[in-house]
Amino acid sequence: MISLGIECSADKLGIGIITSEGKVLSNVRKTYKPPYGSGIHPREASEFHAANMAEAINEAFKESSMNPDDIDLISFTKGPGLGPCLRIGAVTARTLSLSLNKPLVAVNHPIAHVEIGRLVGKLDDPVVLYVSGGNTQVIAHSEGRYRVFGETLDIPVGNCLDVFGRNAGLSDKKLPMGRVIELEALKGKNYISIPYVIKGMDVSFSGILTHVTKLLENQRYSLQDLSYSLQETIFAMLVEVTERALAHTKKSEVLVTGGVASNNRLKQMLEEMAKSHSATFRGLDAALALDNGVMIAWLGILMKNAGIETKIEDTRINQHFRPEDVEVTWRL
Ligand code: AMP
Ligand code: MG
Repeated sequence: MISLGIECSADKLGIGIITSEGKVLSNVRKTYKPPYGSGIHPREASEFHAANMAEAINEAFKESSMNPDDIDLISFTKGPGLGPCLRIGAVTARTLSLSLNKPLVAVNHPIAHVEIGRLVGKLDDPVVLYVSGGNTQVIAHSEGRYRVFGETLDIPVGNCLDVFGRNAGLSDKKLPMGRVIELEALKGKNYISIPYVIKGMDVSFSGILTHVTKLLENQRYSLQDLSYSLQETIFAMLVEVTERALAHTKKSEVLVTGGVASNNRLKQMLEEMAKSHSATFRGLDAALALDNGVMIAWLGILMKNAGIETKIEDTRINQHFRPEDVEVTWRL
């Protein structure tokens, strides 16, 4: 079986093609860039996706040397994400499914991150830290569903880094903001004490963001020291919650995925934690850790093989789609 996946839940438009053996045939990604100094504008991002969709699909066919007729399945992101963006993906998926007469599978975005991680990381049953610009969740499989063991109570960790960087006037034409801050943090030497906010199994970043932004405005500390202290603090919070989920579930694998998973310091901290529990640790390369169409195509295959298909009338997007909402019938 060959599946084509459509991902456009936020700023990235991804078209992926993968076989049921897990061979990636194409992974096309186009990224909407907001004007300098602002965040993602949902309508503008959706206009970008609509304008680039046909070209992205054509590129994916070209890269994979496939024709539309070779595709057995169309998968797309039902949610969570930005409504206007998700709608572009859903409309495209319906159109392809109806015009090519191929089955359709609507998938949950965080679960797709987990499943592509299991595939390429060769993992069986990991505790997953999913950290991106739009999400922050600790996810693990338990009693037939992917459960969220901990998550952000307010803004996602990537958003915290991005806004801090924008407030500091940082920007880079090529590098994502989180990477720019990572490079600043490497030059930091002094740890400045900032709030460490965990409530139960959940984390909160908005107060920390306000706090470090104020420290930045006071000009008492260097940007390097603040970047270093911010990273050390928020990553320690994420590692703590992941560690507690690992101890609670008694699993033996840890996976980190999402855009923030590119951060070397975060990976180092998670690796040390996993080691202390004799657990295997895996990160993913950016190609499959960032939002991508391949993971959507792959989850489509897993679900279709388990007999799941989505009828056209059930393809409405769900901006707040939770992993727990999906019964996981494709694995033990
Ligand atoms: P995603 O939402 O998965 O596409 O990931 C985008 C997020 O990842 C943005 O918030 C980026 O700033 C962040 N990011 C990318 N590279 C890094 C890095 N090296 N360290 C921390 N955050 C990063
Ligand atoms: Mg994502």
